[in-house]
Amino acid sequence: MSELSLPAIGGCRCGAVRFEITSAPLLTMACHCRGCQRMTGSAYSLSAAIPKEGFRVTEGEPVIGGLHGANRHFFCGHCMSWLFTRLEGLDWFVNLRPTMLDDPAWFEPFVETCTAEGLPWATTPAVYSFEGMPAMEDFDRVTRDYAEQRGQSVP
Ligand SMILES: [Zn+2]
Ligand SMILES: [Zn+2]
Repeated sequence: MSELSLPAIGGCRCGAVRFEITSAPLLTMACHCRGCQRMTGSAYSLSAAIPKEGFRVTEGEPVIGGLHGANRHFFCGHCMSWLFTRLEGLDWFVNLRPTMLDDPAWFEPFVETCTAEGLPWATTPAVYSFEGMPAMEDFDRVTRDYAEQRGQSVP
């Protein structure tokens, strides 16, 4: 597996929105929920939780899509690619869709969520699987484990 090298740049399908990350992810995830299936048109979504200070939109103006609710899903207004999500009450990170990066080859999900809603054939190499959305203490535990496995300092 290739390594993430920082800074890393990426953007939407049409190139109108471009962004840069300067921090490694706190956690990498795949979500099998029905909402993610619909928004991706695929079996699951992919997320890299990037510390908010390590994420910057450099070109274009992302627009809100999805359910337009408390969790804000950001899209390119032209090509409608789903770029990143800011979750309500969890403002210290941005859930970036890692396949928007120009080089996504380093990405592998460490955790998968909502497997109970997943398509029967849809499997991932995730180390941790949760049938639903894990509780916050479970997220804390797997985030610590992800940092340890990557040799990063544990917050
Ligand atoms: Zn676009
Ligand atoms: Zn989901």
